[in-house]
Amino acid sequence: MSASQPIKLRILDLYRIGPGPSSSHTVGPMRAARRFRERCLEDDLFPAGLRVELLGSLAATGRGHGSDRAVLAGLSGWLPETCNPDDFLALPKRLAAEGRIEWGGQSTCLLPEDVSFVSSSDQAWPHPNTMIFRAVDARGEELRVETWCSVGGGFVLRVGGEEDEAAHELPDPAVPFHDGSSLLEQAKESGGLGAVVLANEAAWEDVPGVVASGLDRIWQAFRACIDRGLHSAGELPGGLGMRRRAKELYARLLEGRVDPAYSAIARGQAYAYAINEENAAGGQVVTAPTNGAAGIFPAVLVEAVDRLGLGRAEIHRAMATGASIAMVIKTHASISGAEVGCQGEVGSATAMAAAALCEILGGSPEQVENAAEIGLEHNLGLTCDPIKGLVQAPCIERNAMGVAKAWSAAQLALHSAGRGVVSLDKVVRTMKRTGDDMLHQYKETSEGGLAVAFPEC
Ligand code: SF4
Repeated sequence: MSASQPIKLRILDLYRIGPGPSSSHTVGPMRAARRFRERCLEDDLFPAGLRVELLGSLAATGRGHGSDRAVLAGLSGWLPETCNPDDFLALPKRLAAEGRIEWGGQSTCLLPEDVSFVSSSDQAWPHPNTMIFRAVDARGEELRVETWCSVGGGFVLRVGGEEDEAAHELPDPAVPFHDGSSLLEQAKESGGLGAVVLANEAAWEDVPGVVASGLDRIWQAFRACIDRGLHSAGELPGGLGMRRRAKELYARLLEGRVDPAYSAIARGQAYAYAINEENAAGGQVVTAPTNGAAGIFPAVLVEAVDRLGLGRAEIHRAMATGASIAMVIKTHASISGAEVGCQGEVGSATAMAAAALCEILGGSPEQVENAAEIGLEHNLGLTCDPIKGLVQAPCIERNAMGVAKAWSAAQLALHSAGRGVVSLDKVVRTMKRTGDDMLHQYKETSEGGLAVAFPEC
């Protein structure tokens, strides 16, 4: 899109419910596979079999992220928001036994081995997360081939088509903004960054109240995920030997065994652990803006809401404020670890949480923009190097650290006059350039950083 075109992203496209552990490697592939199935069925295409190749970062870390399972689920017609996490985990075994899936009232062959990981040093894929879907006849001849990309946060794009969300064909927004600076100007008139996004949603929604009830559903999903995580213990799957720690930290808090000066942050960090441990275990989480960074925004928000006793309208506004920051970052840089490293995931989530918390605490629009800028600036250059390709280390602690950074960024902005030397737009552009310059080893390939240092530990 051109630099001055209004941003037309929907709030409920940024907060999506789905299974862990990754929005780009699990949720996105499931959505792309499901769209491929739908497009075949729309054209009355009934193949004898299906083949899928996972390329680039999907090949490098897709096993640990469950990308193959996600594609099998999408081709079976499942949706991330409604799939049962236990059924999802059991799907490959079931398909290995049954060998077929329902396909428009008929059936077609689908086995786990029909999904392959294609490792190659060839960097010429259209995107670091590329998938090729093939529908074949009984002799193995191709009936249809489509290439899809998972571009971060569960968003998908068919090569040769539009990014799915852009296909909404929305009219121009009621309160247009195209970057952080125009968002700030509109926020001064509208009463806050979140108010801008909510005004646009109100003008776009077909049925009044549908966005508000969607936000209620997301809020309940945040809460439910924290609750499950705080009541779970044991080792996370994948063979890394990482134990769940949310329950233990939370218990220490309840027993008054943490320093009182640390308790507000510790509560948020226990919530972030809870969410990210659920994510690592394949449980249901919400992209905020991604699965890998799903803990920071809800942890900060839930802690603030409980501590300050905030109501429904304030919660919706805070969610909209966080979304406004993600919209600017996604439009002008990226929220994908495979594109720009972890600065695009944990950095973006920290900026969203800092902005929402600053607004909750009474920050002016300038201070809120400044809080987001600080949150992102101090994650610049953060690489993505998950050990064993699992979304566990450094990811889970990194989310807990994101909570502390978001809290500090909100406070630093609140206790300053507003805009600093670096604007939100400048730091977003810098993040993009830093990501472009980053070696691919540090962009969700597990070929650099902690991922390769681990065997020496
Ligand atoms: S290191 Fe960051 S970007 Fe990479 S998988 Fe973990 S949370 Fe996601």
